[in-house]
Parts: sequence; C-alpha cells; structure tokens
Amino acid sequence: KALCRAEVSMLPRYNAGLSEDEVRRRYNLTTIVKLGSNENPYGPSPQVKAGWAGLADRLGRYPDAGAALLRHDIARAHMTEVERVLVGNGSEQIIRLIAEAYLSSGDRVVTVRPAFGLHEIYPRMMGAEVDAVPVTAEATFDQAALLAAVKKPLKILMFSNPSNPVGCMMTGADLSELIEACPQDALIVVDEAYREYAEEDPNYPDARALLEKQGRPWIILRTFSKAYGLAALRIGYALTSSEEVASVLDTVRDPFNTNMPAQIAASAALADVAYMKDCIRKGIAERERMAKALRELGFFVAPAWTNFVFVRTTQGAAQLADALLERGIIIKPWKEPGFENWVRISIGLPEENDTVLHALADLSL
Ligand code: PMP
Repeated sequence: KALCRAEVSMLPRYNAGLSEDEVRRRYNLTTIVKLGSNENPYGPSPQVKAGWAGLADRLGRYPDAGAALLRHDIARAHMTEVERVLVGNGSEQIIRLIAEAYLSSGDRVVTVRPAFGLHEIYPRMMGAEVDAVPVTAEATFDQAALLAAVKKPLKILMFSNPSNPVGCMMTGADLSELIEACPQDALIVVDEAYREYAEEDPNYPDARALLEKQGRPWIILRTFSKAYGLAALRIGYALTSSEEVASVLDTVRDPFNTNMPAQIAASAALADVAYMKDCIRKGIAERERMAKALRELGFFVAPAWTNFVFVRTTQGAAQLADALLERGIIIKPWKEPGFENWVRISIGLPEENDTVLHALADLSL
C-alpha cells in the first residue's frame, strides 16, 4: 500500500512539456521551434542585463526573503499597499500557496475545463473537490453553467482570464455577474497570466476594480513569465484584497522562495513598459496572422486574447504533436476527455510560425 496520502497517489501529473535540450537530444536535431509553453519569443527587456551588473559578486548572499524592492515596485505600479503584494517562484507557486493556506479536505473549488492544470491539481492535492465547468462548443466560457456552479457551497472560484488553454476572454459584465453570484465568503482567484495580451480590448475587465467593489476576499495572479519574457527565472506575484490575505499566504511561503537574479530582473522588466508593449503588439499581430493561416488550412481556431491559439484538429492531438516533434517543433496536445483533438500552439517569432504552418500544410497533404 502506498505510504503517501491518498490524495497524492490519485493526483494527475502536470504536463510541463519537453524542453528544447531534451527534443534536441532525443531526435538528434539542431534547430528546435519551441511553441509549447506560451513564452515571449523576444525575451526580456535589455534593461534586465543592465540591472544584473555586479550581480556575480553578490551571489554568496541570500536573496531578500521579503523581496522588498520588487514588492515596492509592484505596489507602486498598481497603486496598492506593499503589504498586499506577495511574490512567488512563478505564479504557479502562489497557486500552491493558495491551496495550502485555504483548502481542507472536502472543500469545493470551481474552475473551468480545460484549465491551466495546476488550478485543479493543487486543490486536489489538498483533498478539495474540483468542479470544472466545460467551455461551450464555440470555445467560450459557459456563463450559465458557471453561474449555476458557484451557487452551491464554494470555498474558491479560480480561473484564468484570458483562459489558458482556450484563449477566450470573460467580459466585465460576465465577470461582475459571476462574482456577485458567489457566496459572500468565497475566495475569488483571477489568474491574469496573459492579461497584457487582452487588456487593450475594451471588454477586458478591470477585475480588481470589480472585486474591490464587492468587499470580499480576492487574489489576482500576475506573472513575469509571459509578456515580460522572464520564464526562466520563475517569478510572479499576487495582488490581494487585504493585508490579511497576503499575510495568510506569506505564512505558508518558503522563506527564500524567489532568488536574487529574478527579483532584480523583475524590477528592471517592470520599469520598461515600452519594451513589453512592443512585444505584445508584435505578438498579437503574429497571432492574428497565424489564426487566419490555420483557418485557411482547414482547422477550427478558437478566438484568442492570448499569446497562443487553441486549435481543433481532425486527428488525435497527441498524434499530430508527435509528428511535429519529429521535425523539432514543440506544441502542446490536450488529453482531457472531450478535448483529445485539440492542440495549443504558442505564437513564436514570424519565422518559427512559418515553420509550423509549412509543417502542418505538409502533414495534412
Ligand atoms: N497561470 C496560468 C494561466 C498559466 O498559463 C501559467 C503558465 N503556463 C501560470 C499561471 C504559471 O506561470 P508562472 O509560474 O511561470 O508564473
């Protein structure tokens, strides 16, 4: 009999995908096109390197456990109090902290399906029951089903807007209605990992303003891994409804959870808004080009507000992903029941996107 907790032995594994090095090794290839993890193909602001001047001489010291300088920069950028900001080793670590701090066996969590895997895995690790509401056939949030789901006893509502992997966006009107339908003591977690790719749309909600009006506990998750191009450094943050919520998360946080190079880089990246916005502009233009070209190849492409597209294929997703992998192209196939024909393709550099389009045209001949 397994020694570990029953919740752990039953837990599905998160599929982090293959790295470039691993694909290079496995298939003996030199050029890899990595479009499986929704990264920023342009990388971080050049200011990051400048911020690291002299860093090597400081590596003998522990990082600031409270990440004070970075948290002040984040607080200033968001016009909030530094006590309401928490940083994590990637926003994925903060999802884990939320689960560890708030969930006990039998608690109910509502999310969507398909979802970012950890929105389901970490709550289940704590013994919570996860009610994942499927998206509609048109690949949009199912507002009616979500409203029905949050009316039952609920500890946490957690989902990403815009959605990973679907790419869809929940409008302000729908988000407002959904939050209002939640029990007053439920914790609302809006994961805005891809916010920067959606926020120019007038229908994209100011979730914080909506939540603030409601006077209930909430957490908004943000990351430096996407628009800011710092995925390698593992750093993200939470904005919270109160000092108390941040303090609860801080209690279960590993003391030195973010490292010194990451804290410095995040501050530098945050200060260079112009660079970030330029990446977003190029990324959105490429996404629209890709969506159109994929539709011309005969695929159904879900409308996207993100740096990736969710695509329905006529064959099995795993089969298609394997065929691309042999050519050095990494994408992410879906496995959940009902979505076995869907793949998620991150938007890369124009030439990388062309490589994918050519390979897909070839494969579907
Ligand atoms: N939330 C969502 C919705 C994501 O897609 C991701 C990364 N794929 C994360 C959180 C985690 O991001 P990170 O840990 O790199 O900040």
